[in-house]
Amino acid sequence: MSKQERVCDRKGKKNASRVACKLIKRPKKADVPPEELCNYCNGKCCRYIALPIDKPTNYEEFDYARWYLYHEGASIFVEDGDWYLIVYTPCRELDENNRCRVYPTRPQICRDYSVDKCEYDDHYLFDQYFETAEQIEEYAQAILGPRPGGSFRTPRPEPSGSMEM
Ligand code: SF4
Ligand code: SF4
Repeated sequence: MSKQERVCDRKGKKNASRVACKLIKRPKKADVPPEELCNYCNGKCCRYIALPIDKPTNYEEFDYARWYLYHEGASIFVEDGDWYLIVYTPCRELDENNRCRVYPTRPQICRDYSVDKCEYDDHYLFDQYFETAEQIEEYAQAILGPRPGGSFRTPRPEPSGSMEM
């Protein structure tokens, strides 16, 4: 998003060029016929993958969650008690106009997804959301108590002595 678009998004039409405002203005889902909705969307549902994962119940399992979260673009969310790994990465077949290049042969999971329940105007509000290893560790400690063996964090290196000349 350009600087102009960001300004427009936050402060409205008066503070940005008409062109930028026109680009980001989107109708509400309820105001658009379902068959036209994707024309107003940036391909939101094609920009991540999400997979169910087991709810971690001990430190060994929380370590897997920590490993996921060390990776760029990975987060974990919890919805209705179910845990999911989500990786923000756009589909390679999403074209520059936010349309599917392989629409006639798209995977079944894409076919099963419909605009009726899609996230067009959702705001990604989850029951729980973890973006970093530190967040999941804090949560683990809150429900399991202190980690056996101490912190997972790499110890700080000892300060080196003065360099001999
Ligand atoms: S199905 Fe919904 S979220 Fe996906 S591209 Fe269409 S409008 Fe956007
Ligand atoms: S294959 Fe097509 S519909 Fe499926 S995620 Fe990629 S761009 Fe979207």
